[in-house]
Amino acid sequence: MPKKRLIVALLALPFAGIMAAFGFAPKTTAEPPVDFRMVTTAISLESPPEPTFEEAVAQLQVRSDETEPPIVSLDTVRAGDTLSDVLHRLGVQIDEILAFVRDDPRAHELLRLPVGRVLMARTQPDGALLSLRVRRDGESALEIRRGKLGLYSILLAADVSRQVQMRSGVIRSSLFGATDAAGVPDAVTVQLVKVFSADIDFHADLRKGDRFSLVYEQYYDGAEAIKAGRLLAAEFINQDRTYRAVYFEQQPGAGDYYTPEGESLHKAFLRSPVEFSRVTSGFSMARLHPILNTWRAHKGVDLAAPEGTPIVAVADGIVTTAGRKGGYGNVIELRHDQQYGTLYGHLSRIHDGIRTGAKVAQGEVIGYVGSTGWATGPHLHYEFLVNGVHQDPLGVALPHASPVPERYRESFVAATAPLLTNLSLAQGASQVAKFE
Ligand SMILES: [Zn+2]
Repeated sequence: MPKKRLIVALLALPFAGIMAAFGFAPKTTAEPPVDFRMVTTAISLESPPEPTFEEAVAQLQVRSDETEPPIVSLDTVRAGDTLSDVLHRLGVQIDEILAFVRDDPRAHELLRLPVGRVLMARTQPDGALLSLRVRRDGESALEIRRGKLGLYSILLAADVSRQVQMRSGVIRSSLFGATDAAGVPDAVTVQLVKVFSADIDFHADLRKGDRFSLVYEQYYDGAEAIKAGRLLAAEFINQDRTYRAVYFEQQPGAGDYYTPEGESLHKAFLRSPVEFSRVTSGFSMARLHPILNTWRAHKGVDLAAPEGTPIVAVADGIVTTAGRKGGYGNVIELRHDQQYGTLYGHLSRIHDGIRTGAKVAQGEVIGYVGSTGWATGPHLHYEFLVNGVHQDPLGVALPHASPVPERYRESFVAATAPLLTNLSLAQGASQVAKFE
C-alpha cells in the first residue's frame, strides 16, 4: 500500500471508526467504490508499528505539502438511528449539516431514511463535508455538496452500475442458511435451485458439506447494492457429484442455462406432472387391483394429490385423447416427438382448450386431479410410453432438451469462458469482479 494512502486511512480512523474509513482520490467515472468490508480488512492487515513522535511529525509534514485527497466514508442507517448518529459514524462535522437539513426542504428527507440505506460522505481530514450522497426511492439520488457559497442540495440521476459478484459457501444446516452466510441474495439462491432442479432435488438430496460457487450480477447505486440480477454461472457439489451451469443467450434476451459443454440443463420431460404428490401405487407388471380385486399389471404410477390439484404437461406435445374412457375416467393422452407418449387418468376436469389436436407446452396446465373412472380416491394415474411400450415414469431415463446448436458453438465458448474463469475464482473466496 502506498505510504500516502496508509496515512490517510490511519488519520481517518478516529473520525469514522473502523466501520468504513478509507481514503482514495475521488473517481470521476461511475465506477462504484470497492466493497468497504474488504478495505477495512486491508487497513487492519497493514497496521504498521507505532511511529515514533519524530516519525509521525515527519509524515505529517510530508503530507501537508501535498494536495489533500478527500476521505470517503460509507455507513448504513441502522434501526433506531437519528441522522446525527449516522453522520457521527461517518466522521463528518455534524452541526453545519443539521442546520442545512433544517433549512433546505429537499434535504428534509435525510431525516426519514429507511434502515439499510447507505450514505456516502466525502470529507476533508478535519471532518468538513465536501459532499454527502444518498440514494432516494426510485432512480435518483440526493446529494449535499459544498459550493463557493456553502452547502447546497441537488437531485441526481441514480448512478446504477452492474457488477459481477462471486460467492461460494458450504452447506451446514440449510441452503438458505449457507447462501445468507455467503452474502448471496435470496433472488439468486432461487435461481440456483431452479437451474439445477432437473438434477438435484433441493428438498431431499442436500447433504451437510455440499458446496456451491456462484457468479451473478448485482446492481449498485453508488456503493449501495440495490438489487440482484441474473445468475450467470454456478457450480453445485451435491453428495460429491459436481454440477455446473453457465448462462448463454443464443439471441439477445433469449438465454438459457447449459453445462460448460453446451448440453441443456433442462430435461425434455418433467419428472412429475403434479407438484407435491405422494406415490401411492408404483409401476409393476402384477398387482392386486383395488376395485377389480384381480391381479393385473399397473402400467403407470398413482400420485395421490387433493382433488382439483393442477396437472401439467410433462413435455411439449400434441393432445391425442381428451375425454372419458372406461376405467381411466376423464383422461388425456399426449404425444411428444415420435417416440414418447404420456397418459393422465381419473381427472376431475380437463382444462379448457385441451382437445384432440391441441398443442401443449411443457408445464402447461392440462387438467385437474380427481377420482373419475375406477378410482378409490383422488389421485392421478400417470403412464409413460417409449415407442409404445410402458415404462416406469419415475425410473425411466429422461432425455435432455436440445444442446447449444452447432452454429452457436463458437459464440457459446467465447461467452462462457470468462464465466468459467470467474467460477473457479469464486471457489474459496468471495470477491468483486470487474465486468465489461
Ligand atoms: Zn393407477
